[in-house]
Amino acid sequence: MATIFSRIIAGEIPSYKVAENDHYYAFLDINPLAKGHTLVVPKQEVDYLYDLDDETLQGMIVFAKQIAQKIKAFSGCNRVATVVLGLEVPHAHIHLIPMNSEKDVDFSREKLVLTPEEFAEIAAALRE
Ligand code: AMP
Repeated sequence: MATIFSRIIAGEIPSYKVAENDHYYAFLDINPLAKGHTLVVPKQEVDYLYDLDDETLQGMIVFAKQIAQKIKAFSGCNRVATVVLGLEVPHAHIHLIPMNSEKDVDFSREKLVLTPEEFAEIAAALRE
């Protein structure tokens, strides 16, 4: 059965898309730690990031870098944290999270609740 992220990539489930090319898809995390929290996903359906073939993994980091630069400009953060958990969704993905201090990447923190309009505005800003 397709993962929820494959269904998002296929357009069967809506997402706030940030970027896409032939191999990767990026969209806003629906439970963000900060405005701009983005997930970067390979279209290839592999559970564990380090099971990806080298070429796909390398390309994914370069794709993530382009988005991280946009997140940094959008949020004015010191840097963008790059986090891999994969505890919830068995489809490899990288979290990109605006960060000013260590506590900004504490996943046990309460997540932001944003309106659909806010999500759409952030995604549009990151797509520019
Ligand atoms: P993890 O697998 O532990 O890295 O966590 C999966 C992440 O995917 C969580 O931060 C969720 O909020 C996020 N997530 C799950 N379903 C969706 C969805 N439909 N749209 C956007 N983000 C999602």
